[in-house]
Amino acid sequence: MSQKIQGLHHITAVSGPPQENYDFYRNTLGLRFIKKTINFDDPFTYHLYYGNHNASPGSAITFFPWQHVVQGKPNTGEATVVQYTIPKGSMDFWEERLRELNVNPGNSYNRFGFTHLPFTDNDGMKIELVEDEKGGSLETKGYGGVPDKHAIRGFFGTTLSLADTGATAEILKEFGWKEKGTEDGDIRYSSEPDNGLGRYVDLRKEPGLDGHFGKSSIHHIAFRVPDDDAQAYWRETIQKMGFEITPVKDRDYFRSIYFREPGGVLFEIATDIPGFDADEPFEKLGESLQLPAWYKKYRDEIEQRLPELKVL
Ligand code: ZN
Repeated sequence: MSQKIQGLHHITAVSGPPQENYDFYRNTLGLRFIKKTINFDDPFTYHLYYGNHNASPGSAITFFPWQHVVQGKPNTGEATVVQYTIPKGSMDFWEERLRELNVNPGNSYNRFGFTHLPFTDNDGMKIELVEDEKGGSLETKGYGGVPDKHAIRGFFGTTLSLADTGATAEILKEFGWKEKGTEDGDIRYSSEPDNGLGRYVDLRKEPGLDGHFGKSSIHHIAFRVPDDDAQAYWRETIQKMGFEITPVKDRDYFRSIYFREPGGVLFEIATDIPGFDADEPFEKLGESLQLPAWYKKYRDEIEQRLPELKVL
């Protein structure tokens, strides 16, 4: 069996207080709030998910909001930029909207034929909006006052800051990804076929960044596979490559395996199934706190100890 990995599934980061995180991702970026749950390993901390209207794989950014965590700073051996796809012709709308909401984007720049608009979220995490004809053609809805035609479609890709790019590139090649070229020191890899959400990973040689983990840091990036059989194939393949990889973990909305790639970035491989409507109807995604089965009997205590989070 030969398979390719079809792009990113989700990206998980650490944020500051949950309300500010919600206000930025739902109300400023106009993403749909698709899941309010808890950190399965730390049940008095939220795990918040934002994605496109359809809660598609390749659109979900997830946060552990830690109230009192130190400020993070981008570090070598981490994913350091989240790139989002917007439709062609939407860049002026976004530049104006971000300015009006005091997000203050930097100067847009060209990379591999795409225009990237850089800015940071309320905690300092680096984000870029990229006009993209392919991923941008998907239908979605905008939230927080963003018109549907300009709404973020999902991920374009991510940037990994690495001491050396070689060994990480080998993993992406093993995934079936192709090198698209090098520009300003970034090597871009694309999943095949070169379309759809979350299809790019940029490898940036940035040794000695001297950052540290905290609020605004990306904890891991997840790649997608359709189902458990494909995941089992990749678990075995990665083991054969000599990496330690975790057993399968049930994350309720997907099943996950994790390994640390040689550049230091934590990689996850997540299944598309069962999806974010596994425990609440699609129309009501994100409206109420969802708990994994083994925590359900502690609901009262968990609800009391979680910080307040007002969702629309
Ligand atoms: Zn994950």
